[in-house]
Amino acid sequence: MITLLYLDNSATTQIHPEVKEAMLPFLLEQFGNPSSKYYEPATYAKNAVNEARQNIAKLLGCKTDEVLFTSGSTESNNFVIKGIADRRKNDGKHIITTATEHPSVLEVCKYLETIGFELNILPVDKYGRVSPAQVAAAIRPETILVTIQWGNNELGTLNPIEEIADICLQHKVFFHSDATQIVGKVAFSLEDIPGLQSISISAHKYFGPKGVGITFLRQDQYNLYPSITPLLHGGGQEHGLRSGTLAVHNIVGMGVASKIAHAKLAQNIQQLQELEAYLIELLVAKFGQNIKFNQPKENKIPGIVSVQFISLNNEILVKKLAPIMAVSTGSACSSAKPSHVLTAIGLDLNEVRQTIRFSLSPYISKDDLNIFKQL
Ligand code: PMP
Repeated sequence: MITLLYLDNSATTQIHPEVKEAMLPFLLEQFGNPSSKYYEPATYAKNAVNEARQNIAKLLGCKTDEVLFTSGSTESNNFVIKGIADRRKNDGKHIITTATEHPSVLEVCKYLETIGFELNILPVDKYGRVSPAQVAAAIRPETILVTIQWGNNELGTLNPIEEIADICLQHKVFFHSDATQIVGKVAFSLEDIPGLQSISISAHKYFGPKGVGITFLRQDQYNLYPSITPLLHGGGQEHGLRSGTLAVHNIVGMGVASKIAHAKLAQNIQQLQELEAYLIELLVAKFGQNIKFNQPKENKIPGIVSVQFISLNNEILVKKLAPIMAVSTGSACSSAKPSHVLTAIGLDLNEVRQTIRFSLSPYISKDDLNIFKQL
């Protein structure tokens, strides 16, 4: 029997066995609500949430109180973008973003446009990057928010987040970044990027469970959060910024996934880089002039490979490959429409329709990739 080679890790990842083991007790006997008081199951749950928060803060290089649990990046992006827009609408209504954002950013911004905000969608270069100079030129006195993704899910392209953060800091503009795709694959410390006010991440992109993520929200020197309207009002959990009973089992899973990602960061990056180079070598050897790569050669998330198979239809190809390998035509979230990311980097409809994304995992080997020799 052929086992399916899973090469769609940017869509989601398989839960790590240690993550599963850590979660199970919280689905069974340890069912306490961490917001309850005094009795043991509640304190046990609260301690487990605290430990997870600490592991996530360590991975991101931030303070534990700056980690706010959400259901994932879609919610985190909605929370920050709508929350900043709402709270600061009297200071200005101008928002800056880019053409290659995930829909959980772009669609939120477009919604805000329908209720009176002014949107500036920056164009990107042929790899999907914006330049710090573009951002600086776009900032106006009425700009209340800049939201620019850290790494792209279809191309693996990294934006110059540190430089953009410096510019936003100089102009005193709130800067948010969707960091969903880079966690566990790119080394960074939020401590070193003071101009970055918030980021979004989802646990299932780095071997944690689905349905849990965080918003990193930077506190000032007095440990105060920026002024922001919550998305979810209610019982006041997460310092009143995100109400709702915490999903303890998921949070524990995210904590363990973060601990593993932190401990194995250098090793995983190296493995992903080696696997990517090997995959490219195999593809070039097999398909030669009949393929074209969309992604940049350097300064990218390791393990994401976007390839055009000249004259082939990507949907048909993905379907044909499905019995032996799981790959995608791009983002799983908007697979029905032609990719807005590939269109934004200048590909025509034909080129978009012949593009496939391979997204690797550090837990596979070069030997697994040798399956490409048999295609
Ligand atoms: N941003 C990016 C860059 C993503 O790749 C994804 C998931 N495809 C999201 C946001 C949304 O994450 P989630 O579906 O976990 O809310």
